[in-house]
Amino acid sequence: MNAINYEGNKYLFEELKELDEKDENKLNLRVKTEHFIVYFRENDSKCMGKVIDALENNYSRITINLDQKLQSKLIIEIYSNIKSLHHALGLQDAPTWIRGGLGAGKIIIASPLNPPPGSNFDNVVNTAIHEFVHILVNKINNNTPRWLNEGIACYEAKDNNESWIRQTVSEGLSNGKIPTFKDLDTGEDFETFFALNGYQYSYTMVEAIINLFGYDKLRRFVRSPNKFDEVLNISKTNLYMKYIDYIRENY
Ligand SMILES: [Zn+2]
Repeated sequence: MNAINYEGNKYLFEELKELDEKDENKLNLRVKTEHFIVYFRENDSKCMGKVIDALENNYSRITINLDQKLQSKLIIEIYSNIKSLHHALGLQDAPTWIRGGLGAGKIIIASPLNPPPGSNFDNVVNTAIHEFVHILVNKINNNTPRWLNEGIACYEAKDNNESWIRQTVSEGLSNGKIPTFKDLDTGEDFETFFALNGYQYSYTMVEAIINLFGYDKLRRFVRSPNKFDEVLNISKTNLYMKYIDYIRENY
């Protein structure tokens, strides 16, 4: 292993000689920081610093908000080739919009320098934060409903453009079609979730819960997501009505 200080980069990275450099599925460079270990290939050495900064600069805010910390350094893998990304995620026929996901105890993202269709550089950088939030939420409750889990990840990471969220929600308000919590509880079916505009709506659902009830209640709600009355002192139906009022006022 060599320590290399790449031009324009403040991070020292190591080269892993044992990996096959011709195989696009293999990542041969590594950087270790306080909380993360990032694996990538040479063409991403210009953007890995942005990914690391995004993760480290948001680490304390998010771990405080969720009251969860990492027990050991978390692995992030960056794939500049979309096929390699899907391969690493174990997805066949994956939708092209996928920017990242979780592997076994690690985060897998596209390269910010080669964003999937519909995304830009910053969306992909912040996807690393989005997946990190999933790791922490899953530590609280591995069975968190899809809308709540995605909503927290999207809200904390800001990985989608605000204009996209605002446009979707204001259209939904004008045509009276706002999905319910149950509609967006799609389990592992993230294509249906996407088709229902789940990323945009779940962001605003979690934003509403944080603004109306605070992070302490949010954390308790993640632990017991069916106990609307017990945790939030409100029925599921009334929470939905309060949520609609919230987006009417704010979107
Ligand atoms: Zn997600």
